[in-house]
Amino acid sequence: MTLEQARAALAAARRVAVLTGAGVSAESGIPTFRNAQTGHWARFRPEDLASPEAYRRDPKMVWEWYAGRYRNVTHAQPNEGHHLLAWLERDKGDGFFLATQNVDGLHARAGSERLVELHGNLSTARCEACGTVAPLPEPNTFTPPPTCPVCGARMRPNIVWFGEFLPELALEAATRAFEKADVALIVGTSGQVYPAAGLALETRRAGGVVIEVNPDETELTPYMSYSVRDVASRGLAALMGEG
Ligand SMILES: [Zn+2]
Repeated sequence: MTLEQARAALAAARRVAVLTGAGVSAESGIPTFRNAQTGHWARFRPEDLASPEAYRRDPKMVWEWYAGRYRNVTHAQPNEGHHLLAWLERDKGDGFFLATQNVDGLHARAGSERLVELHGNLSTARCEACGTVAPLPEPNTFTPPPTCPVCGARMRPNIVWFGEFLPELALEAATRAFEKADVALIVGTSGQVYPAAGLALETRRAGGVVIEVNPDETELTPYMSYSVRDVASRGLAALMGEG
């Protein structure tokens, strides 16, 4: 498939499913988990900050880590890649579905609505007792841990940790959307993180077109109908823009 054909397929598609990863957030200056581990945090293994065991052992420390990342994302802004995907949703309406592995909430801030956040969200917390999800207070007034607005119990970061399952309903919705998609876009994710590979293959198996946007070759590249070798903003513009 050529770029022209990929653009034509996307323009004609009634159903479009999109999966995004860290590459989309990178252009907003959001570091990956590992790149965020600077200074004090550099000496920890990721699983010592982001696992149920770590939280049981030292909830205060885990909350400090997440409160810091929460403060950082509130200072970041959605970039052109986020805005182009929000525009694509307005074009496709109910035929559009976006699944993200990112936890920074920038897709929602750019206006995406038909959205599932597979790995959770840094700006919300979840009640350990009743499961209520609620937004965190403003960063400058926030002292962790937050308490549940419904039952008053302690809340935990609303993030899928190492060793935890993805939210089942979100994953089911994503699987259905990728099965039915005429075109799937895999943007800024290497395919090493579950479930990226599985979702792309659902579309492929059902006979749809699968397009990757990534500056580097990935493990998914062999399964792609077409690969745009660029960062998310420029790659999406090449697929959707006038030029
Ligand atoms: Zn509660």
